[in-house]
Amino acid sequence: MKEGTRRPGESATRQGLRLPASPRLRVLSFTLLIAALAFAIYLPTDSSRAQTSQRRSGAHSATTRESFTPADRILVEQAIGAACAERVRDPLGSMPIDEMQSRPSLPVGHPEAVAGARRAERLPPATKRLVVETILKLAQDYELYDSVASRNKINAATARVEAVRRIKPDVDARDNASVLLREPRTIEFGTIFLAALRSDEGMVSVLAHELTHIASGEPDSLRPLFRAIARRAAGRTGLRIQGQRAEELACDLVGVMAARDFIKQTASWEPLPRRLARAVEHNCVDDDASDEDHLSPRNTIRALFALDVSLAGEILNGSSIGAFSILPRRASTRLIPLTAPIGAS
Ligand SMILES: [Zn+2]
Repeated sequence: MKEGTRRPGESATRQGLRLPASPRLRVLSFTLLIAALAFAIYLPTDSSRAQTSQRRSGAHSATTRESFTPADRILVEQAIGAACAERVRDPLGSMPIDEMQSRPSLPVGHPEAVAGARRAERLPPATKRLVVETILKLAQDYELYDSVASRNKINAATARVEAVRRIKPDVDARDNASVLLREPRTIEFGTIFLAALRSDEGMVSVLAHELTHIASGEPDSLRPLFRAIARRAAGRTGLRIQGQRAEELACDLVGVMAARDFIKQTASWEPLPRRLARAVEHNCVDDDASDEDHLSPRNTIRALFALDVSLAGEILNGSSIGAFSILPRRASTRLIPLTAPIGAS
């Protein structure tokens, strides 16, 4: 897969996760926005507090680095190769986007689609929290939203994330996912897409991408952040990242950062680079095509690693937090089932 879009001729509030050819997510209601504002202004969440303490610890400090050296550029390229090589070795490696597109449609009851649906159903509670934390972290790192009004926008955005309740498999969506305005609490997931993401890490990355579209929502609340991220990425890579491309890249950045935090918070004996690589492996394509709304898949990885050089370093050599990640940081990272079951479609 790749991620969402707002396409000419569609509703201005439509967004989503997509391959370089189709649409996905649409977003939330004005009523919810107002409720979220009232809620968030006066009640800082646990996740916002957790985010603050996490930032003090220096997590993701590389995302705020102003410099990007020639050595960093080499590191980024090496890390792309390492991530995509790991995908081939990893039994749980994600299927690349171009391969997904070449596959025939997959019935909802196909065992691989069912396994993917169960994964997608299990992960949203943890992923929603990680997305909220990541958005707050990025807003601070990029020195945005310092005013009360701006903070209110962020709080409303995170409340929209919390409102999502259901993952719905859909054959026709194939390798895409979407949220409809008439069902703002449901993410529709193509069955090919569900089957192609074979790991929790890959699924968290994609779910977080979709939730970030939802967070920005109809008011486009996160547009300033999207633009700031795109400017930095463009400056470091020379890529043209404007318009919808900025949003798609920013959603991907939240995706990989959320996946990285998920990895740090969940026990596993698997090597860290393998787990981290799963967050980007769906972009390890042979047919590296771009479109108006998206960087090409491989340029997406390139931009993500340029934005977060420490992530590239961890994938390349696992040096940052050790060869293995085994200790959950908080009891709250325990995965909790969705309140609503996955529905057949
Ligand atoms: Zn997207």
